Amino acid sequence: MAEISEYIVVGGGASGCAVTSQLLKKNKKVTLFEAGHNNKNFLIDWPAGFFKFINKSKFATYHKTKPQKHLFDRENIVPQGNVLGGGTSINAQVYMRGRAEDYDEWNDILSINNNKADWDWETLLPYFRNMETNGTFNNKHHSQEGPLKVSHCKYINELTHDFVNSVASLGLEIVDDFNGDNPQNGVGYYQFMNSNGQRSSAANAYIDPERNNPNLKLKLNSGVKKLIIENNKVIGVEYIDRTGEHKNYFAEKEVILAPGSFITPKLLMLSGIGDEKELSEHNIKCVHHLPGVGKNLMDHPECPLIARANGKYGYYKQGEGWRMIKNGIEFLIRGTGLVNSVGVEAGAFVNPLNRNDLSYIQAFFVPSIYMNADTIGVIEPDYGMSITTVMTKPKSRGYVKLRSSNYEDPPEISLNLLKHEDDLKMMVAGQKFFMESLKQGPLSNKVKEIILPNQKDLDDKKIEEHCKRFVRTNYHPAGTAKMGADNDHMAVLNSKLQVRGLDNLRVCDMSAMPIINSGNTSAPAMMLGLRCGDFLNDNNIN
Ligand SMILES: Cc1cc2nc3c(=O)[nH]c(=O)nc-3n(C[C@H](O)[C@H](O)[C@H](O)COP(=O)(O)OP(=O)(O)OC[C@H]3O[C@@H](n4cnc5c(N)ncnc54)[C@H](O)[C@@H]3O)c2cc1C
Repeated sequence: MAEISEYIVVGGGASGCAVTSQLLKKNKKVTLFEAGHNNKNFLIDWPAGFFKFINKSKFATYHKTKPQKHLFDRENIVPQGNVLGGGTSINAQVYMRGRAEDYDEWNDILSINNNKADWDWETLLPYFRNMETNGTFNNKHHSQEGPLKVSHCKYINELTHDFVNSVASLGLEIVDDFNGDNPQNGVGYYQFMNSNGQRSSAANAYIDPERNNPNLKLKLNSGVKKLIIENNKVIGVEYIDRTGEHKNYFAEKEVILAPGSFITPKLLMLSGIGDEKELSEHNIKCVHHLPGVGKNLMDHPECPLIARANGKYGYYKQGEGWRMIKNGIEFLIRGTGLVNSVGVEAGAFVNPLNRNDLSYIQAFFVPSIYMNADTIGVIEPDYGMSITTVMTKPKSRGYVKLRSSNYEDPPEISLNLLKHEDDLKMMVAGQKFFMESLKQGPLSNKVKEIILPNQKDLDDKKIEEHCKRFVRTNYHPAGTAKMGADNDHMAVLNSKLQVRGLDNLRVCDMSAMPIINSGNTSAPAMMLGLRCGDFLNDNNIN
């Protein structure tokens, strides 16, 4: 017998969990396909578990870019969630919404032919506000009644306090809320999507309360490989179930794509939706010519600043051997200690080229030397600290293409981080600004030496080279099936998140963003899912 449901959601990540719950609220029948694993695992729950997912874990898929010519032919590795909750089950949990200007800009773009696009900040603030139960704030920006738990970190390392004070000594205001009245200008302590040492992912917030709902069919370890299309109408999906069997599943109403910015364009193209010429190169019959599919790939580039400490400061070795056991026991018995910390405890926003303008650099402070694929083997592990500088509104654009018509082949990805000269210029300015914080105020008393970038004869050219050698993803790919106005031939979606030219198909993940938001992206991705759910529930189709 054919398997059938009212709605099919593809991808149980940030946006997929959110759209599913919004549909279930209105008693709709939903089948949610998640290619990855269940999210029940203590390392996922504990904030400090985050570092275990960065380099190798079954809960992540490690995408790789093609060699980036402008970055000395380096390949960037981009982990993405492979688990219910998607990125929100493995991420650093920093809670950030973006700023009003981000969404007002979307609204302007989308309103060209349609005076009421409804993506402005005023329309979207209630989605963000109602999403959270905030452990600290209850005001016009924050609620204490939503499903997502947001809180300040219960454990702060002394180096982190030093960072905040050192950056303040450079003239930045200390802000108590990066999502409040003065959202993205200043230095302060981040809020996190967790509470009492427990991660709060999209799966925890939106799916766990629905696990016994008979209207939800949750298909884990079940990857969708293609859409089933009849006369320009999407009627279902082809998928591989957990035993490896290939099957079909049908939707009475709509299919909603939410497998993330790399896989959404891949599935569209494998289904014959994309640039006709590119599809023909893989012998895929074009069902609908949409040249924007896979284009407009954006990500936040991040570059490291690393310093060795002159004493036993920070978290070096705290996640290994007997120290890890001791920290784990303290957390289990008393709920206290550094297991409550994700490792990133404070940050800052600044425009280093014009302090009175909107910020374009976000910084993350980590009270240890942050080792990843780029730094392992290049620097010696030791007591120390890392600051990453992130460009929040990059002008560089990359792409996602197919390698072949085989679903098993990963997509070809080019992120083009820092390719645009303005991005590189801003990043160099950001590096210089935060390098100064290692030399000023309380941090200067604990820094033995800055090891990255190498300080010998350092000038702007050498900082540029350092950025190109070490730039990597801040894990926020976006924009590969962008919403756009009717006169934009590269737009893949209309302002109701519907795929142009086809019936019964929407996209609600990070791919839908016309321009990436400033700051981290989980809350914006969940907002996209909730907004899509409202469009579907209102049947608000124009
Ligand atoms: C390591 C890391 C750290 C991060 N840190 C932060 C942070 O601190 N703060 C923050 O706000 N954001 C952070 N992010 C970013 C944030 O998590 C993502 O932007 C967000 O999760 C994207 O949401 P999404 O719905 O677009 O996709 P995802 O959340 O990635 O969800 C996509 C889902 O689809 C599934 N899937 C893929 N292919 C298929 C298929 N064929 N069939 C069915 N299912 C499929 C995947 O397994 C995944 O569960 C981080 C991300 C990562 C990876």
